[in-house]
Amino acid sequence: MEKILAGVHKFRRSVYPRDRQFFQQLSEKDQKPKALFITCSDSRVDPNLITQTEPGDLFLVRNAGNLVPPYAGIASGEAATIEYSIEVLGIKNIIVCGHSQCGAMRGLLNPQIAENLPAVKMWFNHAETTRRIVKNKYQNLAPQELIVAATEENVLVQLNNLSTHPAVAARLSAGEVRIFGWYYDIGSGCISQFDQQQGRFVELGAQAYATAPLPIRTNDETTSAVS
Ligand SMILES: [Zn+2]
Repeated sequence: MEKILAGVHKFRRSVYPRDRQFFQQLSEKDQKPKALFITCSDSRVDPNLITQTEPGDLFLVRNAGNLVPPYAGIASGEAATIEYSIEVLGIKNIIVCGHSQCGAMRGLLNPQIAENLPAVKMWFNHAETTRRIVKNKYQNLAPQELIVAATEENVLVQLNNLSTHPAVAARLSAGEVRIFGWYYDIGSGCISQFDQQQGRFVELGAQAYATAPLPIRTNDETTSAVS
């Protein structure tokens, strides 16, 4: 805790005074985030850092494995947050971002890891499609490549799940919302986006923005950079 408390002190002592005006402006207006950013809880993934954005820019959903439970009309933090972000905040861009060395993906591929974790086991049901795609399609990959393939496939599966949410589906069909699938490599700092035309993840450059929105894809169409 010491590091965290020292950080709070530093924020109060030097960071806040320096940007006082910025924070006061933030508090005086309603938030108007530029995107809904759905990513893993992993402590090494810092959405604001990798997108060089500021407080107020990203509306976040975080959980183990950046999963988006398909819409089922039942209570779900993810469903409520997605609905609110679109209907109230007017979000126009949604990013689902997976990452390298993802413990959730490792657990998904090695069920024995979650043997004594009943909540995790149940949560992984939302990635069962990912597990099956990987099992059927990537039998010959080495373990490290398999994790990358699983993470990328999972991003696509979760984009599909995202489009089952009524607020997203309605805006997608009207062309009012764009959805993006990202893969963040922690070690290299590289961020790739799924490119629909190439059928694989491509390092983000200015031209990559032209690829969205992604259509709803069936599982057997799913492809990956490592296939
Ligand atoms: Zn993760």
